[in-house]
Order: sequence, then structure tokens, then C-alpha cells
Amino acid sequence: MAEINFDLIIAAFYLVSAILFFYGLKQLGSPATAKSGNRLAALGMLIAVVVTLFDREIVRFEVIIAGVVVGSLIGVVMSRKIKMTAMPQLVAVFNGLGGAGSAVVASAEYFRLEGLETNIPIEISITIMLGTLIGAVTFSGSMIAFTKLQEIIGGSPFIFPLQKIVTALAFLVIAALIALLVIEPNLQLFYILVVICLLLGVLLVIPIGGADMPVVISLLNSYSGVAAAMAGFALGNVMLIIAGSLVGAAGLILTQIMIKAMNRSIFNVLFGAFGASAATATGESADKAVREASVEDAAISLGYAQTAIFVPGYGLAVARAQHQLKDLAELLGARGVDVRYAIHPVAGRMPGHMNVLLAEADVPYDQLYDLDEINSRFSETDIVVVIGANDVVNPAARDEAGSPIYGMPILEVDKSRQVLVLKRSLSPGFAGLDNELFYKDNTMMLFGDASESLANLITGVKEL
Ligand code: NDP
Repeated sequence: MAEINFDLIIAAFYLVSAILFFYGLKQLGSPATAKSGNRLAALGMLIAVVVTLFDREIVRFEVIIAGVVVGSLIGVVMSRKIKMTAMPQLVAVFNGLGGAGSAVVASAEYFRLEGLETNIPIEISITIMLGTLIGAVTFSGSMIAFTKLQEIIGGSPFIFPLQKIVTALAFLVIAALIALLVIEPNLQLFYILVVICLLLGVLLVIPIGGADMPVVISLLNSYSGVAAAMAGFALGNVMLIIAGSLVGAAGLILTQIMIKAMNRSIFNVLFGAFGASAATATGESADKAVREASVEDAAISLGYAQTAIFVPGYGLAVARAQHQLKDLAELLGARGVDVRYAIHPVAGRMPGHMNVLLAEADVPYDQLYDLDEINSRFSETDIVVVIGANDVVNPAARDEAGSPIYGMPILEVDKSRQVLVLKRSLSPGFAGLDNELFYKDNTMMLFGDASESLANLITGVKEL
């Protein structure tokens, strides 16, 4: 009987996993197929993990099983408890832990090879160093992003004298240490490298504030994938290289989408020179008047419109009002109003935030329109309803050259015949800026929690 070739069998399983990853990722591209894409990719990961456990000479399965049980428990509790509004923080923590995992794996490989007292091949040594560097930067950078998003240290940029020089110095020291370590292994120097890499992660993220956060999150996501790929090279594990590269590439594409949506350049992003873009509210609002609408007026404008566009923002997530929004849209649709939803790529606090919320409420996908698709329609729209959105509809990004968000593409809602804004007060949004839209002649404000306001509007439209 022919001998069984285990390497070939393992490679075949890895190939199946890789195909499941590719296909799953492709399906994630559309809300209609995203759930099945997620399941396929998860199945691919399960196969990859199981095959790897049988392939490698695992010393003790007890520790691995205990880790899986504890990790799964934490995962299940988190997925049930976490609020939709806290998702970005959770993503930041996940990125950070992914980076830490890769850094730990790369370091463990370094300790093992260093202990063998044979020469570490240069390509292995370089990938170990890069895996440690990128993993550690991802970890500490993500933890800072987490503390900013959670408002533990405040979202505004933290800048100190000579910051850029200190960051550049950290880069240089890291490059020098890596060169030394590749030439001659040295445990003490390796520990110093890890500490400076962690410091670099902090230095790269603390100066970033306010409106630049989405770019940071997606970039760190990409870093965590690259770190995993590097760990894969160090271990000689093809699956880790494929999975890491996919995460790295997907994160980079997302970063590209985000920087376009926020008018940043990739150069600024890669070198951490985002500039301090968060500002405080100007206080201009004190001497300007807004037009406050009553529920009845707003309901009449909506009920008798021919075309309406809903613009959801972060406040929709806070109010958890997606179901009421969909109910109002259906009610208006039944009255013959043409209803669409306009989705800004950075609306909310994480990439795709609004799509996730609206999908949860079963809003039909064909009613969702991207910025590019919908902007030309506002001028011929009877009424736009802005629900807890602020920065993404701020005309200052288009009109005020000095504004910190100048150049960020916005949903040009102010061009429509009428704008109805649902929010609780005149408080600024995430970027901390006053919004001229609220004071325009064609804008009316309906103050209150979005969930309550939408419920009132539903009643108001029903009574017409
Ligand atoms: P904003 O943060 O600009 O504005 C949200 C508005 O919602 C606030 O002005 C707030 O006003 C209102 N709001 C809060 N709670 C409620 C409630 N219960 N009911 C009604 N209104 C409420 O949100 P946008 O979506 O317009 O913009 C997103 C911002 O977040 C951008 O600056 C973006 O750069 C940033 N960001 C985006 C990320 C992403 O990936 N999408 C990640 C991180 C940051 P009030 O208090 O008066 O009610």
C-alpha cells in the first residue's frame, strides 16, 4: 500500500481554507451575501486551526484546549454584551490583540532559535524582527486608539514639543537595533527593541484626534494582518502568511477608502503626520438662530413630499433608532414618497457602521446609496432627514478653507429643498465643530432623542 503523504494532505486542507477565505471575503463585499461570507471564512479558519494543531508537534494539548475554552467564553460574553455604539473600541482591542499575538509568536520563535546556538538564517531573523515591530506597534497603537474612542483619555490630539523628532528618532533606533540583531542575536537588545516598538505605537497614535480616527483603525487593522504574515514567514506556516496577507491587504483597501472619504493622503497616514485636526466648537452659534420645527410641521413636510432622503449618523446608533427609521420609511413609502438612504463612508464610529445598523433593521439594500451615487440627487429632493449625523453633513468641509475638515467629502444635504435635522441639541459632532447647516434658511431642527423623535413623526404622519 502506498505510504500516506501527510504534507500533501495538510497542504490540500490549507488550500481549501484559503479558497474559503477568498470566497468569504468576496461575499463580504455585498450586504446581501455578507452573513454567508462571514460563515464561510469562519469555517476556513476552523479548518486551518485544526489542521495546524495536528500538523505541528504540539507539546501539550491541555494548555491549548484551556486557552480555547477561556477565549471562547470571553468572546461569547463580549459579543452578547457589547453595545453597537462601542463596536469601534472593540475593533481596536481586537486589532491590538492580533498584533500582540503576532509579536509574541515572533518573539517566541526568536527565543527558541536563539537558544539553539546555531546561526539564525537572515531571512528568518528579518521576518521575526518585522513581525515583532509591526505587532508591538499595532498593540500599543490600538490600545491608545481604544482609550481615545472610549474617552478614557479624551479624543483630542495630544501634542508635545519635538514630537515628530522623537518619533523619527524612535524609527532610527529601531532600524539600528534590527540591523544589530540580524547580525548578532542578543536577548537584552531584543527586549529593548520590543519596548521601543511599543513606545513607537503610542507616539504614532497620540497625536491623532477627532475626525482622523477611522483611518487609524483601518490602518491598524492592516498592520495586524502584516504582523501575522511576518509571523507566518518566521514559522514557515503558509496559512498564516495567506490569512495575514489577506487582512493586511483588506485593511489597506479600507484605509484607502477611508482616506478618500476624509481627504487625507496615504503619505500622511503612513508617516503618522495626520495633523491635529480636531477642534473645539467655535461658539459662533451663540448669536445665530435656528428654526425649530414642531412634530406636526415636520410630519406634514414628510408626508406630502415626493422624494425624501434619510441621512443616518452616529446619533442613530446612540439612540438605537434604526427600527423606527425603517418604520417611518415604510410608512412614507406606502404614501407614495420615494425614500432613499444616503450612507457616508465614515458616518458613525467605524467603517460600515450605518450599513450594519440598517441591515439589522432589514432595510432593503437597494434603498442604500453611497456618497458618490446620491450627492447629485439632493438638489432635486423635497426633504432630507438627518438623523444624528453632524460632521458628515457639515458644509464647512466644502466651503471653509480654514476648517479642520476642509476637503472631506460631505453629503451635500443643504442643496435639497428642505432639511430636517433630528438631534438633541446644537452640540458639535465627533470633530468638535460648529455646523452651519443648522442655521440655514431651509433647515428645521427637531430636538430630542432620535428614537423618540422618529416615534413622534410616525404618529404624526399616521394622523395626516
Ligand atoms: P457626529 O459624531 O459628527 O455627530 C453625531 C451627532 O449625533 C451629534 O452631533 C449628536 O448631537 C447626535 N446624537 C447623539 N446621540 C443622539 C441621540 N440619542 N439622538 C439624536 N441625536 C444624537 O456623527 P457623524 O456620523 O455625522 O460623523 C461621524 C464622525 O465620527 C466623523 O467625524 C468621523 O470622522 C468620526 N469617526 C468615524 C469613524 C468611522 O469609521 N465611521 C470612526 C471614528 C470616528 P446631540 O448631542 O446634540 O444629540
